[in-house]
Amino acid sequence: MTSLDLRSFTFLAALQCMVMGLVLLATRRKFPVPIHGMRLWGVAPLLALLSAGVYGLQDHLPSVAVTVAGNGLLMGATLLLLAGTSRFFERPWRWWPWAAMVSVCLVWIFAFDAIWPDYRARMLVFGLSMALICATHTRVLALHGRGLPSRVMLAAMGWQTLVLLARALSTYWIDTPATQRFDGGSVVQGIYIGTYSCSILLVLLGAQLMVNERVRDQFEQLATHDALTGMLNRRAIMALIELEHHRWKRHARPYAVMVVDVDHFKRVNDSYGHQAGDRALSQIAATLQASIRKADFIGRYGGEEFIVLLQASDPEATTLLARRLCQAVETRSSDAQTPRCTVSIGVAVVQQGDETIEPVIGRADQALYEAKAAGRNRVRLAGTEPTVKHTGPPMGLGQAGGHPDPA
Ligand code: GH3
Ligand code: MG
Ligand code: MG
Repeated sequence: MTSLDLRSFTFLAALQCMVMGLVLLATRRKFPVPIHGMRLWGVAPLLALLSAGVYGLQDHLPSVAVTVAGNGLLMGATLLLLAGTSRFFERPWRWWPWAAMVSVCLVWIFAFDAIWPDYRARMLVFGLSMALICATHTRVLALHGRGLPSRVMLAAMGWQTLVLLARALSTYWIDTPATQRFDGGSVVQGIYIGTYSCSILLVLLGAQLMVNERVRDQFEQLATHDALTGMLNRRAIMALIELEHHRWKRHARPYAVMVVDVDHFKRVNDSYGHQAGDRALSQIAATLQASIRKADFIGRYGGEEFIVLLQASDPEATTLLARRLCQAVETRSSDAQTPRCTVSIGVAVVQQGDETIEPVIGRADQALYEAKAAGRNRVRLAGTEPTVKHTGPPMGLGQAGGHPDPA
């Protein structure tokens, strides 16, 4: 360590960081949805490289200029990393408290270089200020980060905080007023500078991995969720039903499906307009989603139809739940812009001889058809008589000022 040329080491590490920063900046443009914080993460290593460049010119520039500019750029880079992480987690971010702290720190550094030259006084305040930025970064990651990439970042920032604190607090023991920044004989200085370079590298690696994870989540969300209602799309809910069917075949764990169809929805569109229809549809979806149990799943089957997968076989309990859904939709609050609607529900429980999910859904569809034919706003369990009316008289569109239910 003692024979290591710290200045070259710092410059090489800064170059590597810059390449990672450029990768972040370049990939950011390709994403379908903006990922906050990427630009700040990408620019941070450029400041670190500039800082390394300024230190590299220390034999050619006035000492005080190198010290103030180099330290200022380094603090800026560390702050940009923190700001990037805060933005990535959608946390509020304010520059001015940090800008004030950096300004005070730089005035202090200037004073203890130009007026009363003392490396220890500079190191104490600079180290503590940097430790504060890194400790805040560690805290943000600990509070909001999840998964391996954010843990990599957290470990790097935590370690960086400890090294900065130790370096700042030990300066009056190990340094003299005339200590040089890249003092090749100092192991402590080697650890300090080496840690900083490596931690930026690790933070940028963590950032890149976190971005990849976020993009993957967003693609998964787009591929499995319906854009209008936010619930599972047809492909995703059918895949879950398929999975449940395999479980039923292997472990004999029965399940049921409900096909839910909004009554007279075409009239809603015709009377209130397609946009009001869209609003009503997403509100109905939210009501249904909130009314099912945690273990059950719901998805948009198509148009104004939804399908519910239930971890149950008891016809009584299943019917009761379906009636609750009918009631929840009917009593959903409405306004002039979003008309009140009702739904009809067909329910079917898996049974012996169901080789695939098609017959199960087919029976639920048939039951739905029967519920419609019997007057709508009601539940029908496949293979049973008579139609189950959920509760009270149907309100239908009539009560919301739309067309009365003809049934
Ligand atoms: P029924 O009670 O027999 O189900 O009558 P209905 O009018 O609901 O059935 P129909 O199948 O005749 O019409 C369904 C309507 O749902 C027609 C279509 O324009 C509307 N619809 C389907 N998807 C959407 C959507 O995403 N937004 C809006 N606004 N309307 C939709
Ligand atoms: Mg329909
Ligand atoms: Mg309908």
